[in-house]
Amino acid sequence: MEQLRYLPNVSTLRLDESLCSGCEACILVCPHGVLAMNGRKVRIVDFDGCMECGACLNNCPTGAINLSPGVGCAAYIIQAWLKGKGLTSCGTETCC
Ligand code: SF4
Ligand code: SF4
Repeated sequence: MEQLRYLPNVSTLRLDESLCSGCEACILVCPHGVLAMNGRKVRIVDFDGCMECGACLNNCPTGAINLSPGVGCAAYIIQAWLKGKGLTSCGTETCC
């Protein structure tokens, strides 16, 4: 999914490892391999691969993941591709 990378260092993905139970749900649902196990906890292994889709956030049972869709979000990128130009937001209610 290398072609879906957008801007470096824009993802709002945050992980509180102290809250992680190691259930691996976020790893299973992440489409870009952003997360991986590090012993009994998950860790971020490809921060710039995160497209802010929210799948990990929505499936984490412990609140260890925090995320706010922004300029790196998948909806923004898809809309920009479809319309062939830059957008100021993705147009979703939860967007910046
Ligand atoms: S927001 Fe989406 S792309 Fe980013 S880490 Fe979570 S599941 Fe992966
Ligand atoms: S879904 Fe949450 S609790 Fe489970 S491994 Fe990922 S961060 Fe840890």
